[in-house]
Amino acid sequence: MSQVVIIGAGPTGLTLAMLLAQRGIDVKLIEASRNFRRTFRGEALMPSGLEAIEFMGLTDLVAQIPHRPLDAWEFIIENRSVFRVDEPMEPGGRACTLISQPDFLAGVMAAAQQYPNFEFIAGTAVRDFVWENDRAVGVILGDDRQIDARLIVGADGRSSIVRQKAKLPLDRQSQSFDVLWFKLPSSPEFAAENIFYSILCGNDGFGLFLGCDGKLQIGWSLQRQPGDDPNAWQRLNWKQKLAAAAPDRLATVLQQQKLDRPFLLSVTVGLCPQWYAPGVLLLGDAAHPMSPIRAQGINMGLRDVIVAANYLVPVLQQHADLAEIDAVLPQIQAEREPEIIQIQKLQSAEVSQGELLRNYAPLRYGVSWLAPHVSLIRNRLRQSWIDRQLLLRRGVTTVSLKV
Ligand SMILES: Cc1cc2nc3c(=O)[nH]c(=O)nc-3n(C[C@H](O)[C@H](O)[C@H](O)COP(=O)(O)OP(=O)(O)OC[C@H]3O[C@@H](n4cnc5c(N)ncnc54)[C@H](O)[C@@H]3O)c2cc1C
Repeated sequence: MSQVVIIGAGPTGLTLAMLLAQRGIDVKLIEASRNFRRTFRGEALMPSGLEAIEFMGLTDLVAQIPHRPLDAWEFIIENRSVFRVDEPMEPGGRACTLISQPDFLAGVMAAAQQYPNFEFIAGTAVRDFVWENDRAVGVILGDDRQIDARLIVGADGRSSIVRQKAKLPLDRQSQSFDVLWFKLPSSPEFAAENIFYSILCGNDGFGLFLGCDGKLQIGWSLQRQPGDDPNAWQRLNWKQKLAAAAPDRLATVLQQQKLDRPFLLSVTVGLCPQWYAPGVLLLGDAAHPMSPIRAQGINMGLRDVIVAANYLVPVLQQHADLAEIDAVLPQIQAEREPEIIQIQKLQSAEVSQGELLRNYAPLRYGVSWLAPHVSLIRNRLRQSWIDRQLLLRRGVTTVSLKV
């Protein structure tokens, strides 16, 4: 029987598998996809996630793969630059850094594969559990293989099958929304700097940055009212729409470049009241699907892993009995949940600020006219934004690897 079966080789599942394998624990990691080049799911790491990466001994890996520290954040409303904040925000601190997620995952996989007690099963999804006396004791794969486990960790993301099979409900937040993701060739002007732009024009809002692959990436928040045709976005002339909402520099790039069809990403935000069941633990998006706002999900998943390792390694190394394994699972949730609740509240507050500007035109125009010209207003807005970012950057609780 495997000690631990981890479902999902995203940032959460793969780093947990590596840490446990490094510490001599038998781990099987199961991933539905055949490779790491699947749907985009974020590149930005905050100082809180970079710190977790340092605890995991993966800082050198980040340095070796395509990565870009951000130089600044800039806010553009109605085509006027309202304020700009340089990175790193804290003197001597870590800058928010974009990393190539496929390369990061491949590097962590290579580190895990050094250990004979680690096994990776790719290209097959987990479809069910095996139960014994009301405890999950194994998983059944899409190809009918059965893998027994002393502990099953669900790191299978926001639509987690582990969550469903363990009958752990998810409380969804109302701020679930859709994002259209565009990638387009950059221009030398954008390549010379690394700024994350937040752009608001009328009711339209989007984020724009230069990704690790050297392409400009645009995340367009899709506004839909009840009763709207869900496919209406497919018929829009996006080149025209983006150029109309974008500042002049981007509008010029957009008019010159070929714009591929965007892909639609559904954002689920929520929190499981309980992250565990007998024989099962949820971590990362499976336990608490995160909004993409201010790049938190990967960071929170990595911090879950550090705390989970602190509790799991001692019991698994001692081959503790199943009741002792189950007994540490609530402690993992208890240590992680306060940070997740607080970070989701802060993300929600950021969304509400954007909604206020989007829905209240006099405020939007007032800010866009006054801030560029009146330094007192610009500095107040800038400082209030910086103050709101501190916990979103550092994290709320202290997390450190103790095993
Ligand atoms: C548009 C967008 C942009 C984002 N940008 C950022 C960002 O810049 N920074 C940031 O920190 N966060 C960002 N996020 C959030 C981030 O993507 C997630 O929070 C993060 O990926 C969660 O990691 P995870 O390992 O828990 O889950 P995931 O990354 O979702 O990984 C889950 C894995 O499980 C696998 N899987 C699923 N079901 C099964 C199954 N039945 N059997 C086997 N395998 C299975 C999947 O294939 C996947 O590989 C963004 C999210 C979105 C939607």
